[in-house]
Amino acid sequence: MPRPMPEETPGQPEPAKSRKGLQLYHYVGIALLLGVALGWAINGPGQWEQRVVYERQVNIAQYKIRQAEKEGREPAPEALQDLAQAEAALEAAETPAWSSVTMEICRTAGQLFLRLIKMIVVPLIFFSIVYSVANLGDMARLSRIGWKTVLYYTCTTGMAVLLGLVLVNIIQPGVGANNLLSSGAPEAAEAGPPTPTELLLRIVPDNPIRAMAETDSLQIIFFALCLGVALGVMGKKARVVVEIAEVLMDAMIVIVHWILKLLPFAVLALMARAVGQAGISLILQLAKYMLTVVLGLAIHGYVVLLAALWIFARIQPWRFVKGVAPALITSFSTASSSATLPITMEECENKVGIKERITSFVCPLGATINMDGTALYESVAAMFIAQAYGIELSLGEQVMVFLTATLAAIGAAGIPEAGLVTMAIVLRAVGLPLEGIGIIVAVDRVLDMCRTSVNVLGDCIGAAIVARSEGEIDEDILYAEDRPAA
Ligand code: ASP
Repeated sequence: MPRPMPEETPGQPEPAKSRKGLQLYHYVGIALLLGVALGWAINGPGQWEQRVVYERQVNIAQYKIRQAEKEGREPAPEALQDLAQAEAALEAAETPAWSSVTMEICRTAGQLFLRLIKMIVVPLIFFSIVYSVANLGDMARLSRIGWKTVLYYTCTTGMAVLLGLVLVNIIQPGVGANNLLSSGAPEAAEAGPPTPTELLLRIVPDNPIRAMAETDSLQIIFFALCLGVALGVMGKKARVVVEIAEVLMDAMIVIVHWILKLLPFAVLALMARAVGQAGISLILQLAKYMLTVVLGLAIHGYVVLLAALWIFARIQPWRFVKGVAPALITSFSTASSSATLPITMEECENKVGIKERITSFVCPLGATINMDGTALYESVAAMFIAQAYGIELSLGEQVMVFLTATLAAIGAAGIPEAGLVTMAIVLRAVGLPLEGIGIIVAVDRVLDMCRTSVNVLGDCIGAAIVARSEGEIDEDILYAEDRPAA
């Protein structure tokens, strides 16, 4: 049976095993604890919380002065006075030398990691969208199944983002977390809420190269979509270019793997700095954020998607979950939809009875572009960061989050932490500082495991729904357990 093997995609998480058998996420866990301990030690004797307040005052005053200069007016005397006072207070706020040095090292290490993420995001998203969409051209020719699949993906991903937005607006995990971040608000405030027409205009680039140079994510995505569709329509003639896009996408994924090797160090540095500045209250705030994501994932995966399964595929949810459990467990532990793909297909065929004609098409596509869990997480995380910065996003901006989170999930590869990388797109689109990623990165691995298993559950349910509508489910296999053993 021709089947995409994990080795075919460099997107696979290498098992990431060390000689002692420890895996990347073990190191991330250890780094997280060490980071908290180090941050706690820094926060304890020092005056860091006070320093952060002064730093923010300096930033806000500087921002007001910059704004005035931009608009060609004299800065208000109060702003100058505020700046002088805050700078003096900052200088006077003594912190032990060792903690200042450690904080500076942590800041540099954290920034380095964030810059690497920023470096990779544009090419990664561009090539992966061009490649996936160009292949959709073939898919459209597969007519009915293709369109049913895309319809299912679009509806469920949209619902996931919507659910995430509703939950994050109700729970508001980031409100009161502004002590986590020292310098975001001024930068973010420059974005301003877009009007609906502005929103529309912002999507279409007048110059795609400029859009890339300025990391204008929505415009890049729009251009990549156009190029992908064009290449798909051109068929054979464009095959070489599509293959080049695939190779380049794979190369970007290889680089992402290299960057991920640094994740434990980044987590240690970012966590130590964050806890050092904000104290232990940070943990509580992050717990609230994690809870929001996990609650959203649970509702979407185990209520919304299972209800869709019951309604459209007429399969008992419990029987189904039991059947695909190995795929869910594998996706949870590897945090990679692509690595789980062979198991996803195996279980869908041999436990649920979905015919190979459907699984061989729907599952690989789903592992690449259908990521409900990731989409939900992206929307919650972006809103959490906005709330932490004390920025209220207007309805127009939340629509923007909706659009970009959906597209960012489509663009995310089925590999560990891909969602964290494409997060930059959502933040960028609504003018939030990318530094916000620094806060959520520490707990991202755990959330990645949870969201990946919802991604895979969504792929399996999609295959079942499409298969049922095509009459391609083998009832004998589906109900095999019910029959008395011969
Ligand atoms: N790890 C996820 C997946 O493979 C993608 C993500 O980072 O959200 O499905």
